[in-house]
Amino acid sequence: MKVLLVEDDAMITSGLCYALEQDGFEVDTVSTVTAAIHALQGGGHSLVLLDLGLPDGSGYTVCKAAKEEQDLPVIFLTAVEDEGNVVKGLDMGADDYITKPFRIRELLSRIRSVLRRYEKRGGDAGGVLKFGDVRILTREAKVQKNGQEVPLTAMEYRLLLCMAEHPGQVFSRNRLLESIWDVSGDFVNDNTLTVYVKRLREKLEDDAANPTLIRTVRGLGYCIG
Ligand code: CA
Repeated sequence: MKVLLVEDDAMITSGLCYALEQDGFEVDTVSTVTAAIHALQGGGHSLVLLDLGLPDGSGYTVCKAAKEEQDLPVIFLTAVEDEGNVVKGLDMGADDYITKPFRIRELLSRIRSVLRRYEKRGGDAGGVLKFGDVRILTREAKVQKNGQEVPLTAMEYRLLLCMAEHPGQVFSRNRLLESIWDVSGDFVNDNTLTVYVKRLREKLEDDAANPTLIRTVRGLGYCIG
């Protein structure tokens, strides 16, 4: 599980990083709004720890991006003098906040509690997975692009869902073949997989010749997000 830590105080960052890693988390550390937005676009995070006062702007901007694009859990790390602003953060959808200086143990327990709340929601925030301008309504097994429904075959849907459930993760061709095997009941070969990916791109990408949603990771496989 990967945490994005957005904090410009090097002392806090190094202490937190160490504690989180000891607790089994992977940590991405950035110290500016710009770097945080960039890191979020890379995907793969399960939670954001967010300082409010950053050198190039406010943590609010990062919170907005984390919420609107991926509905990630966000915990603010605030200074005592920020407390008046915490309300604004919570209004923006932040899940919790903790005031500096804090005890690491307390933060870890808040993190676990926020993550538990998200898990209860089923992980995909109310049955919707989003990437770019594509939404997958997992309860209805429907896919929309820019709000318009895109008809997919069962095989295409299964393949898309498999990758979209793990944004940022690279799927080998073998792993994807396994994921669609039980839908078809027939042998799906490597060339067939190439055809399915091509069809998915034709249906979902703005420009199927230059795919940005379903990326090819050379020599490894495919990746969404
Ligand atoms: Ca700061």
